[in-house]
Amino acid sequence: MQAKTVVDLPDHRISGSRILVRVDFNVPLDPDRRITDDIRIVRALPTLSYLLERGGRLIVTSHLARPKGVDPAFSLRPVAEHLSGLLDFPVRFCPELVGPVAQKAVNDLDDGQLLLLENTRFHEGEKKNDPELSRELADLCDLFVNDAFGSAHRAHASTVGAAEVLRERGREAVGGFLMEKELRYLGMALEAPDRPFAAVLGGAKISGKIEVIQSLLPKVDRLIIGGAMANTFFKALGLETGKSLVEEERVELARETLEEAGEKILLPVDCVVAPEISAGAPTREAERAAVEPEEMIGDIGKGSRALFADALAGAGTVVWNGPMGVFEMPPFAGGTLALAEAVAVVSDHGGTTIVGGGDSASAAEQAGVADRLSHVSTGGGASLEFLSGAVLPGVAALDKKEGSSS
Ligand code: ADP
Ligand code: MG
Repeated sequence: MQAKTVVDLPDHRISGSRILVRVDFNVPLDPDRRITDDIRIVRALPTLSYLLERGGRLIVTSHLARPKGVDPAFSLRPVAEHLSGLLDFPVRFCPELVGPVAQKAVNDLDDGQLLLLENTRFHEGEKKNDPELSRELADLCDLFVNDAFGSAHRAHASTVGAAEVLRERGREAVGGFLMEKELRYLGMALEAPDRPFAAVLGGAKISGKIEVIQSLLPKVDRLIIGGAMANTFFKALGLETGKSLVEEERVELARETLEEAGEKILLPVDCVVAPEISAGAPTREAERAAVEPEEMIGDIGKGSRALFADALAGAGTVVWNGPMGVFEMPPFAGGTLALAEAVAVVSDHGGTTIVGGGDSASAAEQAGVADRLSHVSTGGGASLEFLSGAVLPGVAALDKKEGSSS
């Protein structure tokens, strides 16, 4: 990546320094506030361990969920307990983010110790990238490390403001290992993909992903489209889509995209249809031209699964975002699971495979192929913004590597 990372910090800069580390500990909690999936915590461990082993005094921040003001239901305290278990030493927790209590907790830190501060979103200033909150955060530390790729598309006080204040003070602001890995894989796909380069886009809506389609189209050799997104393209082809999810106001855009893309775009040739999208719905397979007015399209059909697997076979790089159907319901999961397997096969043959998007990542897990893929992005929104060609503010706020232009 173009930004500096923790490996660019000399060890003597880490040792004894108070290092503000922004991570993405936005984990799912059950009603008893137990963590139901700790993957986001686990992914931050390499950076935390690297800095701890070198004697850094870590002040860790994260947001959790979307609280409106201070709300104990969204305290990071359970994360501190869980992190203690993972690191095998007691992590300290501070019930404040900034101010005298936080300052005191920071002053009490020794080399190689870790303090987790309370949820950044308890402060209104966080999402506003408030200069005062940014300054207070910067006051706690000597340097800044951002390992929260999942929040890098947001210009908040803890992701951008604090970094900028520190850099104005002549201090370092660098990325962590997870940030580096995310940007390396996604950047490679955009800038120097091994060819053939195929993108697979699916999911619910075109509107959220049109920028991604437009950014990827000139770069890819093949663009495979599935999910509800395909329905809008079917409509653009003049096909009957019944009661399926279609974005009427995007039909014209889909038609233009098809014209522009020519042979590059591959649409499903058949689908799984049902009178309604529900877990117990009776389904049938239909050619895409044979959908009835009373039917809904819930998944791609068997012909499309084979077609897409063929199109992916031998690819050098695959980027996949968005499920092929309503994979949360068993009658409509087959297309997404088949696609996940086809993507994993590309990996098995030495290709690079990258999955972005929260639902796609859980589909890859559900298909049991996540371990075979090159990279499963932790940041749904951030990976989409990156693939659409946007500069992520959280990355732009970091120190540039010498000799890099952006
Ligand atoms: P990601 O989180 O990977 O970026 P999205 O959030 O864009 O993916 O889309 C995921 C959603 O798309 C899933 O909830 C899935 O049920 C829905 N979806 C996929 N295909 C269809 C379809 N044919 N009809 C309705 N919803 C669909
Ligand atoms: Mg989603």
